[in-house]
Formats: sequence, structure tokens, C-alpha cells
Amino acid sequence: MSVVKHIPRVNLTHSPTPLEFAPRLSELLGIELWIKRDDCTGLGGGGNKARKLEFLIADAQSKGADTLVTLGGIQSNHARQTASAAAKFGFGCELILQAVEGTPKTNYSNNGNVLLDQLFGANIHRLLGEQDIKLYGKGLMQQLSDSGKSPYLIPVGGSNSIGSLGYVHCVDELLTQLNTDAVDSGYLRENGEHAARCAYFDQIILATGSAGTQAGLLAGLIAKNDTTKVLGINVSRPSSEQEPLVYQLLKQVVADLKLEPEIVRESTLRSRVNTNGDYYGDGYGQVTEGMLEAVKTCAELEGLLLDPVYSGKAMAGLFDLCRKGEIPAGSRVMFLHTGGSAGLFAYQEVF
Ligand SMILES: *Cc1c(COP(=O)(O)O)cnc(C)c1O
Repeated sequence: MSVVKHIPRVNLTHSPTPLEFAPRLSELLGIELWIKRDDCTGLGGGGNKARKLEFLIADAQSKGADTLVTLGGIQSNHARQTASAAAKFGFGCELILQAVEGTPKTNYSNNGNVLLDQLFGANIHRLLGEQDIKLYGKGLMQQLSDSGKSPYLIPVGGSNSIGSLGYVHCVDELLTQLNTDAVDSGYLRENGEHAARCAYFDQIILATGSAGTQAGLLAGLIAKNDTTKVLGINVSRPSSEQEPLVYQLLKQVVADLKLEPEIVRESTLRSRVNTNGDYYGDGYGQVTEGMLEAVKTCAELEGLLLDPVYSGKAMAGLFDLCRKGEIPAGSRVMFLHTGGSAGLFAYQEVF
């Protein structure tokens, strides 16, 4: 039984998203690599924010909102998917997008996600790097209310305890997928294996930023008593800051889900939160050699598009951890592909 069954949710996602075996990358890395294709969630070019928005939109509707307001970096995938969802459900959409220091010059401010935001009809507020984005958001909310609108504020990345439910829900989807013949490469069937749990995988690897995806995934696994290891690869901050972020959100999500006290002990939760801060380079959105290699290799070996800010850096981490033997040869790894390829067009000059 799904622990989120009773919580209002709209349908925004093409689901289940495929779970694909990646034979050529597996051979290169000496592991068994599976990719959960959440880049194929459908909504407005796909990506992980679709799952969060299923719960956030339902909440906005229940509160009688007519306008979605959200914020992020100029090339925010979350902003793009929010704009798409707003269009689909008839909300107005206000995006507060902030310049990011050290990012490419040519296409960064108008191509990629920004082009799509505009196509979805969003109203864009551009902020300089030094402006206080939260304060601007507060002011805009007030202004919209004063003009008779009912605005609904979605935090950065859709990462609050409501948005994170999208990845609790994703765990249910994944377990069903692993327990049926739906695993589409047929690998599990051919090998006579029927994984009873996500524990088919030695670990799950994903990019972690605003933390909702990792927190939701962990909450979903914990709810099922599934101990599969989850490793977040940080895209913007060291683990000393990222782990508390994931942990605080996880605590909130499991509290909202009212899971049994013995499975949500503080020590249990803390031990489940693992991130690695070795792969984000000089900061959010900054180009790294590892990212360039990972994006090119996945494109050339699997015809797979990653992105420069999130999945490219997470995959760079996966490559390096395999090379260093920290992910042992023969491991079964699931890479959660969180999307973002629209951002490639903003980074044209570095490829
Ligand atoms: C937002 C995003 C992430 C990170 O998810 P969080 O829930 O913010 O940690 C990863 N990949 C892509 C492509 C994203 O847009």
C-alpha cells in the first residue's frame, strides 16, 4: 500500500518512467548500470520536477490559487517545468530567475530553459546575482495579492515536504517495476532474477541540489523498510551543508507521513543520508572537466542526454567512484536520471 495514497495529487507524469539497462556504459565502468529515466517524465521537456509538481499543483488547487510563483537560477529546470504545469492547469506563472556567476555567456540568459519558459507563457523577473531573491519573492507575493490575485509560492526546486512526496511516490513505482516484467530491457527476466525490493541494487545514485528528490526517495524507501543505499552527488555545496539540508527535509517528510516511530529514529534517518561533494567544481552551474566527459560519453555510448548542471555532474561522480573502486566492480547501480537536457543549449560554447 502506498503511503501517499491519501494525499491529493494531479496527473502530470508519463509513468512509470522506463528503467533501462545501459549495456555500453556498464561495460565501460565494469558495473551493472541501470538508468531510471525520470528525464522522460514528459512535462514540458521532462525531469524530476514533474513528480514534485503533481503534489504541489494539487495543493495549490486546494488553496484556491490562480498564480504559481517560483524562483531559481536563470536556467532552472524547475522553473521551466513549473511554467509548463501552470499552462496545463490554467494558472498564471511568475518566475523569479537569478543570474549565476561564472556560467557561459552566449546562450545562458535566453536559450535553453529560458526559451521554453517564454513559450509556456510565464512572466519572467530577472535578478542580478547580488539581489536578495527571497525578499524579491515576498514583495512579488504581496504585490500579486494586492492586485486581487491568489498567488501560490513554490520554493526553490519545489523542495518542501509536499513536493518531496513526488519521490515517495516514485519509490512505489520503482518497486512495482522491479516486481513485474516491465523492466524493459528484459535483463531481469533473462537472468531469472526477480528483485523483491530496490535492494536488487547495491546503490542508487542521483544529483542532489535543493534536496527534495533525495529526501523523498529516502522517505519512500524507509516507509518500505528498504535499506538500499542512496548516494547524492552534490551540485552546489559541500556535504557538511548538503547532508543537513537533506536530513531536515527527510525528517519533515517522514513526520508528515506519520510513519511508525521505530523506523524513523533520528539515528536511522541520519545514517541513511549520504552525499558526496567532490564533483560540483567551483559551484552551481560551473563547468567541470568531469561533467564534460560524462555528458559526451553518455551521448556517444548510449545516445543518452544528460545536463551540465545536475545529471552530468552526478554521472561524473559515478564514473570517478567506479574508477577509484569506491563503487566495486560488478556492483548493481541505479542512476536516477533527473533530466535537465534543455540546459545543454545554454552551454553550447563549452561542448
Ligand atoms: C532540480 C534538479 C535536480 C536536483 O533535485 P533536488 O530535488 O533539487 O535536489 C537534479 N537534476 C535536475 C536536472 C534538476 O533539475
